[in-house]
Amino acid sequence: MNATHTHAAVLSTPRGEVAVESIHLGEPGPGEVLLRMEACGLCHSDVFVTTLEKLPVAPITLGHEGIGRVVAIGEGVTGWAVGDRAGMTFLGTTCGTCEWCRSDRERFCPKQANFGYTLQGAMANYVIAPAVALARVPESLPAEIAAPLCCAGWTAYCALRTAGLERGQTVALFGYGGLGHLALQIARHLGLGVSVSDTSEEKLAQARAAGAEVNARGVDAAIVFTAAAAAVPQAFRALKRNGTLVLVGLSVANYELPLVDSVLKGITIRGSFLGSREDLAQVFALAGQGVLHPHVQSHALGEVPELMGRLRRGEIAGRAVVAF
Ligand SMILES: [Zn+2]
Ligand SMILES: [Zn+2]
Repeated sequence: MNATHTHAAVLSTPRGEVAVESIHLGEPGPGEVLLRMEACGLCHSDVFVTTLEKLPVAPITLGHEGIGRVVAIGEGVTGWAVGDRAGMTFLGTTCGTCEWCRSDRERFCPKQANFGYTLQGAMANYVIAPAVALARVPESLPAEIAAPLCCAGWTAYCALRTAGLERGQTVALFGYGGLGHLALQIARHLGLGVSVSDTSEEKLAQARAAGAEVNARGVDAAIVFTAAAAAVPQAFRALKRNGTLVLVGLSVANYELPLVDSVLKGITIRGSFLGSREDLAQVFALAGQGVLHPHVQSHALGEVPELMGRLRRGEIAGRAVVAF
């Protein structure tokens, strides 16, 4: 295939259907590299983008869990060479100067651009991306294993770190999909007691088989990975006094929590979004050590429109990954 054109999973209009199309790519400009993609995971946030009333960029190629290899380099790119392996996450470019960028919290930069949302995403045979936004990916990890770590693994790891737990404490995970199943593996590695809640009996059975308890009560922290806002008050009720509620799953809904219990029980409520660069390196290292092993099903790019529907309906266990 000629790299000046590529097939890509594209969303052309707000709330439209995702279609696989041939799009023009061109050459990498200053500061950009051309990547030949090896794999890209499908994330619930891709579904979230398809529900928005307005798209900041349209048409937009979806995908922010991409593993690729550099095949061409634009002017002024430093630190990347042809043949290098690179990861694309949801975090694209940032301003580099704000208080969040200067304190290893670039993911909260108000001027950030995001792959698959405001920058063209990774769900394509070839991608042009700003080099500064790419992550190093160890050669030892198979692309289909590394791909879901770029969002699901990274986010799950940071959410657990945000919960601030110590060995022997307990955590309840709400939602046992792409993030939840990786969070369970990390939590068990950290020596935490883990319970899992999910509306799918099949997913609960998988969680149990992977070492989770099922009924969450009196836990030190609860992490809501599902986008179903109804899980937030459930997670709140699972907490013990001084417990921490960590919110991760995205939807446009609001949630309501009891004020009296929040105050009298001294509850901490925190949002958690992606992670630090060090978190991502840790996640790749845990996968290299065999601690983290994402459950992936490989698919072809042409299956993405159908997979989006299955993901929306909660029918995908583990992670659906497109192999190129
Ligand atoms: Zn994601
Ligand atoms: Zn910034």
